Amino acid sequence: MSSWFDKLPRTQYSSLQRITTSQSWFQVYALRPSVFVIYEPYHCEEVISYLIVGSEKSLLIDTGMGIGNIEIVINELSSLPLIVINTHTHHDHIGDNWRFEQSLIGLQCEFSKKNDADLINEAQNEMENDMFREEYFPKDFDQKSYRIKQFQITKYISDGDTIDLGNERKIIVIFTPGHTPDSISLLDIQERLLFVGDQFYLGPIFLYRPETNLKDYIESLEKLVCVMKNHKIDLIVPSHNTPNVDPHFVVMALDAIRKVVAGNVIAKKTDDDLYNKYDFDDFSFVIDSKFLNK
Ligand SMILES: [Zn+2]
Repeated sequence: MSSWFDKLPRTQYSSLQRITTSQSWFQVYALRPSVFVIYEPYHCEEVISYLIVGSEKSLLIDTGMGIGNIEIVINELSSLPLIVINTHTHHDHIGDNWRFEQSLIGLQCEFSKKNDADLINEAQNEMENDMFREEYFPKDFDQKSYRIKQFQITKYISDGDTIDLGNERKIIVIFTPGHTPDSISLLDIQERLLFVGDQFYLGPIFLYRPETNLKDYIESLEKLVCVMKNHKIDLIVPSHNTPNVDPHFVVMALDAIRKVVAGNVIAKKTDDDLYNKYDFDDFSFVIDSKFLNK
């Protein structure tokens, strides 16, 4: 594998204030005074979770890979009552869900329920050579027994719901399926941030798994472009790699995926020869060609 770690730190973090916590597996940054980036740079997935601190409640968006203990980080950043939500229930974003069972809200969706029951061994696929920097593992982390633990959603939410963090700090749930059937985006109206999960990030965007629906994915990108315009969004906030993406990339991504589907982009093959890869300037799509009905 190419030396992903040599590319770090990514320049996009240099403008953000670094916050010290006791948990060295995570790097924490302030994206806004009330919005914290909880980044896992020592695994090649470079997963990012987020904490939004309101006046009455805090909202944790995703719980990370479950390698480090994100609960300790959260407790050091905020003592307010906590709500926890997932952008989607792929294993790399739900690793510490089990620690927050009293606080976990989510969609009522078959895919989430199925994951909840039997995902859950996918964690071991993340433990192959060169995917992580072992020297940064927490001392109590056991690579061999690493699994995603089951969790239970305690309160169901729907598209368009508002999560009220107090004093007019409202976060809107936007259903954006495609990457998975349970993918959501979250709109922070006050800070003009749009949290998009794995719907978009700078890097290879995975659209090849059986639960992916390419038509839904494109419709969700269209929806996000509308939301961006209506709310004058400052930043797209993804769940991998970098936390501060210029909104014009999402417009470019929509244009790009439409061209792919129309057959106007030449495909490469992934290294394992299983999927098509379509390269654009700062992102790419990795797609199962059977989704392209061509
Ligand atoms: Zn992911």
